[in-house]
Amino acid sequence: MSDKKVLIIGGGVAGLSTAIELAKHDVKVVVIEKEKTVGGHARQFTCKATDACVKCGACIVEEKIDAAVSHPDITIYSGARLTEIGQQGQFAISFINQNEEIQQCKVDAVVMATGFQPFDPINKPFGYKRFDDVITNLDLEKRIRKEGVVRRPSDGNIPGKIAFIQCVGSRDSSLNHLWCSRVCCGSALRMANLIKSRKKSTEISFFYIDVQTFGKDFQYNYDLIKDQVRMIRAIPGDIFLTADRKLKLEYFLSSEGKQAEELFDLVVLSVGITPGGNADSILEKIGLKTAEKGFLDEPSMISVPGVFAAGTAKGPGSIAESVADAGRVALDVLNYFQAQHN
Ligand SMILES: Cc1cc2nc3c(=O)[nH]c(=O)nc-3n(C[C@H](O)[C@H](O)[C@H](O)COP(=O)(O)OP(=O)(O)OC[C@H]3O[C@@H](n4cnc5c(N)ncnc54)[C@H](O)[C@@H]3O)c2cc1C
Ligand code: SF4
Ligand code: SF4
Repeated sequence: MSDKKVLIIGGGVAGLSTAIELAKHDVKVVVIEKEKTVGGHARQFTCKATDACVKCGACIVEEKIDAAVSHPDITIYSGARLTEIGQQGQFAISFINQNEEIQQCKVDAVVMATGFQPFDPINKPFGYKRFDDVITNLDLEKRIRKEGVVRRPSDGNIPGKIAFIQCVGSRDSSLNHLWCSRVCCGSALRMANLIKSRKKSTEISFFYIDVQTFGKDFQYNYDLIKDQVRMIRAIPGDIFLTADRKLKLEYFLSSEGKQAEELFDLVVLSVGITPGGNADSILEKIGLKTAEKGFLDEPSMISVPGVFAAGTAKGPGSIAESVADAGRVALDVLNYFQAQHN
């Protein structure tokens, strides 16, 4: 297939894995990544190993970056943006590279690996961006990656009591986000395990609707930590800042039909995966109008021959699932070339 060239839009773990799989079959690959660095969201994740590896998948990303960057048949343009894409047999594309120069090329297929947007909890009643010590799970990843321990943003102290609020922006009918984001329970449990391993006295509580058993490693992570954390099945309400700079969380215990409240030093919002990555505007450039914003696995979202989607652009999934999906998509692309050839 050395005469074939594929454009991959998005250099996250799904885009890079698709590129690597295609390059193994002598396909030339061009990756356009809008950020200055490739790796996508997972690049900011921290290793959560304690005594042993807890299978968080974070190290897969570095592995994929190294393999893609060093492959002679993969050309990566980071800090680049696609400006035009048109189809006359092949796809003719124009993009602006990081030096603000216009580049053009022709490709035989396009893979949308534009990923997801983390839910922005700014409009939820939890005080995100109003109170320094209300952070998201992604903020927590970055902080632990940088400092090794979790500290309260407001005063730098190690928090004694932490609350995780699950399903923020997922499984929420008021937002019409009915999906489970699949990764945030496992991610929060691993994070709690890591925090406890660094400071055993830290009290950790999970506020959840119900714990989903997504991901094959979920039970393993739950078993690791379940005796060391409180699981509170409740509907969280408002958060207030007290005079001594604690966070007062109000919640409704549906099983008991009563309101309750508790003080915490740090609140972590487990925000989930929402559709993103400007995929809609790119699809419009190739003449496909999308009725509404959504994940690309919805029927009718991709129906242009030669255009494929990989990874979380299609819906929530883990790093390992995104890599597995990339393998399947690469095979679909190769089959598409083969069918054209016959
Ligand atoms: C809170 C949270 C915790 C998680 N924890 C875990 C975990 O512990 N373990 C795990 O396995 N998974 C975890 N995940 C899931 C993991 O982040 C995803 O599986 C993975 O990032 C998916 O990779 P992707 O390439 O599909 O998407 P992304 O990581 O979103 O990458 C997409 C890339 O495309 C680029 N892009 C988007 N639009 C364009 C455009 N128009 N032009 C050019 N480039 C573009 C983006 O800049 C980005 O680099 C977590 C997710 C969340 C939200
Ligand atoms: S999978 Fe996660 S926990 Fe295991 S070594 Fe890799 S980064 Fe660390
Ligand atoms: S993985 Fe857990 S926190 Fe995330 S949406 Fe599903 S149930 Fe909620």
